[in-house]
Amino acid sequence: MKALVFDGALALKNLPIPEPRDGEALVKVLTAGICNTDLEISRGYMQFRGVIGHEFVGMVERSPDPNQVGTRVVGEINAGCGECPACRSGLQRHCPERTVLGILGRDGAIAEYLTLPVSNLVAVPQGVSDEKAVFTEPLAAALEILEQVRIRPADKVLVIGDGKLGLLVSMVLRLTGSDLLLVGKHRPKLDFFARLNGRTALLSELDATGDKFDIVVECSGNPGGWKLAAGRVKPRGVLVLKSTYHGNLEINPAPLVVDEITVVGSRCGQFAPALRLMDSCLVDPMPLISAVFPISQAEDAFRRSQESDSIKVLLKISS
Ligand SMILES: [Zn+2]
Ligand SMILES: [Zn+2]
Repeated sequence: MKALVFDGALALKNLPIPEPRDGEALVKVLTAGICNTDLEISRGYMQFRGVIGHEFVGMVERSPDPNQVGTRVVGEINAGCGECPACRSGLQRHCPERTVLGILGRDGAIAEYLTLPVSNLVAVPQGVSDEKAVFTEPLAAALEILEQVRIRPADKVLVIGDGKLGLLVSMVLRLTGSDLLLVGKHRPKLDFFARLNGRTALLSELDATGDKFDIVVECSGNPGGWKLAAGRVKPRGVLVLKSTYHGNLEINPAPLVVDEITVVGSRCGQFAPALRLMDSCLVDPMPLISAVFPISQAEDAFRRSQESDSIKVLLKISS
């Protein structure tokens, strides 16, 4: 099978079709997405080696659960040991022994086939197209904020970063009715949210104001975003860190202590609610697709996803 492999450099390779372990299914990948985490991995994040990619929709080809065969699915990316206290309380994404699809100890989704535990797979409703279904994982990650932080309709919310994550987070959090502002450096990217009647501002425009917010969500993934976020939270407010950083942040903790700021780290979320949001058209990620490439051009797709005007790049792997 064709697969996009990172082993210090990215290359499209021919690999054997993976053999599912006990309790795992073999999934034929239909469409996959490229995420910022993949770009970070290609720069050394997590020291990952193997097939890259974790956003996908596929068709179950083999499974210990016969009812699952032939089902169109998306997959939770964290696979726990199933036995530790975290796994037993349903938090396999915090299992210390976990593998993570295309990120930690497990081959990923930019390939013709992948394997995942049967319990990780979630059926995709018919009304959600392959292209939309690829957004399930990042949309679930955006929804995770609402599992962790109470956002009231009267709250002022600032989302920092106009990349794919910041746009998706804005599309989800606006459903709370809160007074939400998306800030970023690129007017054309901000316009994706402005076209949905979302409130947007360029960084320079925000700089001209002293506005503070009840909740600030950092989605830019760069140290400047952290600095801006920390300076814009009201006393007793909440600062949500949504990006993974490759490298260290310089933090002055004093203002966080004095203003009694709650800092919340936020990672993966649950898939079923994300699929419901798309099935009911409450969130439509389709305008965020910048390009679709065949798997034979996976390296070009990766390059395209790093261009400044690019939001989400998809790979059509099979049909
Ligand atoms: Zn991702
Ligand atoms: Zn475990």
